[in-house]
Amino acid sequence: MEHSGLYFGIIVVGAGGCGLSAALAAAESGADVLLLEKTDKPGGGTALSSKGLRAAGTRFQREKGIEDNPARYAQDILRRNGGQSDVALTERLAQTSAETVEWLADRAGIEFEIGTHLFGHSAERAHSWKADRTIIDYLVDAAQQADNIRILFSTPAVSLKLDADGAVTGVVTQSGVITGRKVILASGGFGASPELLSQYIPQAVDIPFPGHYGSTGDGLRMGIAVGAATENLGAFQPFPTYIGPEELSVSPEVTTSGGIAVDQRGRRFVDETRFPGGIGAKMLNLPGKQAYEIFDERICQSARNHLADVIAAGMVKKAETAAELAYQLGIDAAGLERTIQEYNSATAYGKDPFGRTLSVPMNTPLYGVKVRVALYHTQGGLKVNTDAQVLRPDGSVIPNLYAGGGVATGISGSGPEGYLPGNGLLASLGLGRIAGEHAAKGFKSPPGT
Ligand SMILES: Cc1cc2nc3c(=O)[nH]c(=O)nc-3n(C[C@H](O)[C@H](O)[C@H](O)COP(=O)(O)OP(=O)(O)OC[C@H]3O[C@@H](n4cnc5c(N)ncnc54)[C@H](O)[C@@H]3O)c2cc1C
Repeated sequence: MEHSGLYFGIIVVGAGGCGLSAALAAAESGADVLLLEKTDKPGGGTALSSKGLRAAGTRFQREKGIEDNPARYAQDILRRNGGQSDVALTERLAQTSAETVEWLADRAGIEFEIGTHLFGHSAERAHSWKADRTIIDYLVDAAQQADNIRILFSTPAVSLKLDADGAVTGVVTQSGVITGRKVILASGGFGASPELLSQYIPQAVDIPFPGHYGSTGDGLRMGIAVGAATENLGAFQPFPTYIGPEELSVSPEVTTSGGIAVDQRGRRFVDETRFPGGIGAKMLNLPGKQAYEIFDERICQSARNHLADVIAAGMVKKAETAAELAYQLGIDAAGLERTIQEYNSATAYGKDPFGRTLSVPMNTPLYGVKVRVALYHTQGGLKVNTDAQVLRPDGSVIPNLYAGGGVATGISGSGPEGYLPGNGLLASLGLGRIAGEHAAKGFKSPPGT
């Protein structure tokens, strides 16, 4: 189909979480929306994500009697990233997180429930959905019901069209120029681009990338080409318990239930509850960028539901002594024996030298599994303001251009350690909704509303 001559109020590039949220929010405000997706289906990395959208002050939390508020959430994010994310953007995303979750519930019919995992959050605010569907399934259903959203698959955006004043006026595809009043870049990060990784995150070049193959940094390149500033391009989530090539992972339940991670010497190297970036970042410096999760029967039972696939794949070793387990894993036996002794002694004091709270000793038999650090997603990108408008290096707005999710700068600081669980989906769904709403301001309401 020839594209030149097509005209839409809003063009969204990328049909992942950010793009679908942006499209829905813009369509709700009355804009006619075109959603371009380069692959043959929607979803992107969002469809691969775990069910972990964090929000503070939602009705779902109130129903459970959980006290929480956006200021507390913003502080948690900033504490984890060492104050390295844009404070105003961080606060806006935390501030609007409850609206985003409640909007998703009302708009896309998602029934949320609250998980108990904290991993650096000071309140129970992990919103997961009850049904066995991805969040993308819900968003696509909602988008298909909107008669002012059109989706074109297998249609990559190639570049942005500018007028003489530097304002964005549309998107160039392989079939021509589509004109749009506003353009929202929602094409994900750059984890699938070896070239961009070697430029911005060389530590992640040789680790597995189980994220989405569409994350080739197209939006980042398009934004840079029209003069956008970038921020925190070295930020990423180094997921610490990946098992490849089986493409499995060890659930964080193992560490929350008391499990530990050791290196080749059988020694611990981090407070394992600082999951995922704390462990993952340290693993990047270990030989082979790998570690070994160690746990006992009690932990195995408590995490059993989450370990079933890893056990079934034969990845978990079991032994009657620490030395025997070390032998099976190919790590230092004396080191692992000493580690278990130290761990058990620390339970008497309630804290270990890494600052982790420990209470229950580990008993034989022991279990162990080798894990690798993997790149789940990148977290830096085009600099945006709190309305998701893309900025130039001098702080001025590039007229008519927005970005969210993996294309935009995230809230995870500048390196591998600053990722707080939930940052990915918040920047994707939250910033997407903000971008869609702001871009559609002034558009007339759709008929019948
Ligand atoms: C295994 C895994 C688990 C995760 N779990 C969590 C979690 O529990 N909580 C959390 O907060 N985050 C999680 N994340 C991170 C989160 O999924 C991402 O941060 C988020 O989904 C990014 O959303 P996005 O909309 O920006 O990009 P995506 O969802 O990747 O969507 C981008 C879309 O744009 C398309 N595209 C790319 N280039 C073009 C182009 N030129 N033209 C048109 N379309 C294009 C892509 O094909 C893709 O469909 C996880 C990630 C992974 C990989």
